[in-house]
Amino acid sequence: MSGNNYFMLKELKDYAKENNVPIMNDEGIDFLTTFVIKNSIESILEIGTAIGFSAISMALANPQAKIVTIERDEERYLEAVKNIKKFDLENNITLLFNDALETNITGEYDLIFIDAAKGQNRKFFEKFARFLKPHGFIITDNMKFHGYVDKDEATIKSRNLRGLVRKIKEYRTFLEENENYETTFYDVGDGVAVSTPK
Ligand code: SAH
Ligand code: MG
Repeated sequence: MSGNNYFMLKELKDYAKENNVPIMNDEGIDFLTTFVIKNSIESILEIGTAIGFSAISMALANPQAKIVTIERDEERYLEAVKNIKKFDLENNITLLFNDALETNITGEYDLIFIDAAKGQNRKFFEKFARFLKPHGFIITDNMKFHGYVDKDEATIKSRNLRGLVRKIKEYRTFLEENENYETTFYDVGDGVAVSTPK
């Protein structure tokens, strides 16, 4: 990666930190970008752009890749538009400003990256899986949800958080018991699931 890109990515990370934008951490992003390179991923659908950090990182990892990414929060979407221009990646990344569950997409993807509202993972999976290529992958981020998924539920004070953790566990079971997809869970970043058609 060029030194300039390195510093521009650092600026994005600093912005995310200051504004509480939950972008992937370094370990997670390393895993994702290595995955893109190793598997020659050329078409990507991302659910949850935030400020464009993961999309930009994947585009830099494989400049041949075409990425479509969806974000429903206007402020973040506008920040992502700005960032993608800054990196000169307008031809690599298409940004859609909408709720993913209400977005009609077309095309076929080597990789679908689910990283949006954690309680809706199953809905995203079920809506978008049909846009996956036969040998494609669905990657879901935050399977550990900042460590809360492995905690004793009784110690989680917030009711909302308990509900979310329960949803993530249900989603994990949904993946484990899925007859059509094989899933491997990786203990990297905030927990990453990689699913592929059986
Ligand atoms: N992938 C990003 C981080 C995404 S954070 C990165 O690692 O750089 C999750 C984002 O998903 C948030 O910005 C949130 O606004 C968005 N989001 C949540 N639910 C969504 C939905 N239904 N449709 C579109 N975006 C959604
Ligand atoms: Mg995430």
